[in-house]
Amino acid sequence: MTRPFHYRGRFAPSPTGPLHLGSLTAALASYLMAKSQHGQWLIRIEDIDPPREIAGMADKQLQSLAGFGLLPDEPVLYQSTRSPYYEAALAKLLREDKAFFCSCSRTQLAEQDGIHRRCVAATASERAAIRLRVDHRTIAFTDGVYGRQYQNLADVIGDFVLKRADGYFAYQLAVVLDDAAQGVTHVVRGADLLSSTPRQIFLQQQLGVPTPVYCHIGLVRDSDGRKLSKSQWAADLDDQDRFAAFSLAYRHLGQDDRILQRNLGAAANLEQAVQHFDASLLPALTAPEPAGSPDVD
Ligand code: GLU
Repeated sequence: MTRPFHYRGRFAPSPTGPLHLGSLTAALASYLMAKSQHGQWLIRIEDIDPPREIAGMADKQLQSLAGFGLLPDEPVLYQSTRSPYYEAALAKLLREDKAFFCSCSRTQLAEQDGIHRRCVAATASERAAIRLRVDHRTIAFTDGVYGRQYQNLADVIGDFVLKRADGYFAYQLAVVLDDAAQGVTHVVRGADLLSSTPRQIFLQQQLGVPTPVYCHIGLVRDSDGRKLSKSQWAADLDDQDRFAAFSLAYRHLGQDDRILQRNLGAAANLEQAVQHFDASLLPALTAPEPAGSPDVD
């Protein structure tokens, strides 16, 4: 007996600023991919970096999404409530010697291209980071938009941070643990995260959790190739004509926005968008980010 096809997608904003056209496009892409395949769609608020967050922003983001009819199928998960799970996973990785405490400073690592290959700090400091030990295998995966991708973590990333020296959990750790915990099968997100994906796949392998299907969406150019200015792109969605923003986001995804109608209302237009969505038209609008920058904390 074959298992029924099962799709769980998600949108995972960090509450560091209002949603803009780029975030709407990413949210809409993940929603349309899920709903056009009769899947579930979740929202996760990635609030693990308080110094970068703005009070009230998570609620504002959820309200903006709701204004477009983008409502999740399950209660929103907040990463700020997940520390015990992150700590348990870190403890296991440390016990298995897959992760280690590291007191190397940014300056010390700069001397080796910012890539952590081994600890160079002479003494252990109290505020140590926790890093994951990478190996020399090349991570390969097939992205739904960008095709086959390869990255050698040892060459271009190095041992990467799972918990920062300032005590905060790293994005790479939290995103992997929560995609697994929420049973996410398909990750659809902006192409700025394409170069993070090999790190996430490697961490999934180290944790023994499944690797979802990945699909990265090019977010910079308009579908006719015009570049949106930074201010057009970054403007708060709540200050824009909702129908116009929705149409533009749909067009950015390579879709024909003539099926949308201003007088229909948000929910009905979203339904139309799902009905007419064709994933094969999703554009790889820009060259992806370079192979990835090592994170140094
Ligand atoms: N929270 C991340 C961001 O806002 C996105 C995480 C993801 O989709 O994997 O950039």
